[in-house]
Amino acid sequence: MNYGNRRVPEKTEASEKTETIETKDKIEKAEKTETIEKTKRAEKPKITKKTGKTGLAAFAAAMSAVLLFCGCGQDIIIENTHSDKGKEISADAGSDTPEAGETPAGSEGEEELIAEIRTGKNSKDTGAAEIETTARVPETEETRPDYSLMVTGTEYTISNVNVRRQPSTSAGILAMLPPGTEVSVITEADDTWTEVYYEGELAYISRDYLTDDPDWQAHLRTKNGYANGQAVYLSDAWRYAEFSKINSGHAVMYTAAADRKNIIIGVNAGHGTEGGANVKTLCHPDGSPKVTGGSTAAGSTSATAVSSGMNFNDGTAERKVTLAEARILKEKLLAAGYDVLMIREEDDVQLDNVARTVICNNTADCHIAIHWDGDGLNYDKGCYFMSVPDGIKHFDNVAAIWQESERLGDSLISGLSETGCKIMGEGRMDMDLTQTTYSSVPSVDIELGNQCSDHSEAVLSRQADGLVRGIDLYFGF
Ligand SMILES: [Zn+2]
Repeated sequence: MNYGNRRVPEKTEASEKTETIETKDKIEKAEKTETIEKTKRAEKPKITKKTGKTGLAAFAAAMSAVLLFCGCGQDIIIENTHSDKGKEISADAGSDTPEAGETPAGSEGEEELIAEIRTGKNSKDTGAAEIETTARVPETEETRPDYSLMVTGTEYTISNVNVRRQPSTSAGILAMLPPGTEVSVITEADDTWTEVYYEGELAYISRDYLTDDPDWQAHLRTKNGYANGQAVYLSDAWRYAEFSKINSGHAVMYTAAADRKNIIIGVNAGHGTEGGANVKTLCHPDGSPKVTGGSTAAGSTSATAVSSGMNFNDGTAERKVTLAEARILKEKLLAAGYDVLMIREEDDVQLDNVARTVICNNTADCHIAIHWDGDGLNYDKGCYFMSVPDGIKHFDNVAAIWQESERLGDSLISGLSETGCKIMGEGRMDMDLTQTTYSSVPSVDIELGNQCSDHSEAVLSRQADGLVRGIDLYFGF
């Protein structure tokens, strides 16, 4: 698919500013006399002009800064710019480098500064309003070089990527381009940035997110820099990595080919680690005891690194069914535009529950572990997720994320319910899991039934539809 040279409309540094209306502090106003107010009105606004690089949008925004004096003596400042709030690009919507610490769009200071008007608190000393307007003089047709004459070739974006005014992740964002956008290249500015011609402007895109191969889909990358099909190993540098005992295996990252959402779903097919049942890991990073029962009893300080899972009544191993479901879910997520981190793709992956969780923490936007419950019942009790018990909410990582984890769990249950899957009660049960205590991204263990459940392909497919629906609900699609 070729998106062409599409620009996200009206979302320049100027339009990122929101319209603000400020009234003076009422207390301060009350202290002022009518005489002072008259003096203020008589004073001429102090206007300072600055010259710099600009675009027409910035110029228009500067011209639209309006100062009003209302009848009651309050100075009302209206700083009006484009306000396409519904179309805002978040600063992290596009990529620059895998570890890019992005400066929020619209925060680049002087370049962004269209009009600054100071009143109220700044006028305390003099009792008079000070008005300072900073505006840029736009480039004209005479002063702007024709950058199109410098174009040397065409490259293609391979991720959602930002077009920057300068070769820096803190520079202003001109636009965010989807994968497959044709870009007019001027030159490779340095090892990191490519100079491009973008809608009449000289601009910059991170080289990591461009390819000169017209078959750009073969080079897609996630927002954190992983290529399609790339192995993802546990890094020693990641928090809690040292608590993992089995981590010689790896997960695999997959990128959506179309309708890219730029969101990475960690899909964890429960169980399936050879030898995992013979190794123990700490239930909690601080060594404190488990607060609920489960496959490891309450009060235990260590748990099975990866249990072998239960068997369905027909003899099928749970780990086979979780893998089948994960594979179906992966395809449906990719089709829906999500990138997918597959924790396990074969019968065995040498990653324990700590490693699986830490990998998701660092490379995915959420972590969904797929299970069926071995509860000994003689009927299918339906789906539920494992909610967060009060006893572990004080861990700093859990405190920061448990509400989001439960919102994700509730969303998955809603999605499953919408697609006709049976739900157990309210669809939740508190459980102290290794997955939960080591998580720092929204993280859910979803139980899609028990040993009595139908696990035919048709049922798994419907459940996967429900999970995708739930993920959509969680992320607002
Ligand atoms: Zn399980």
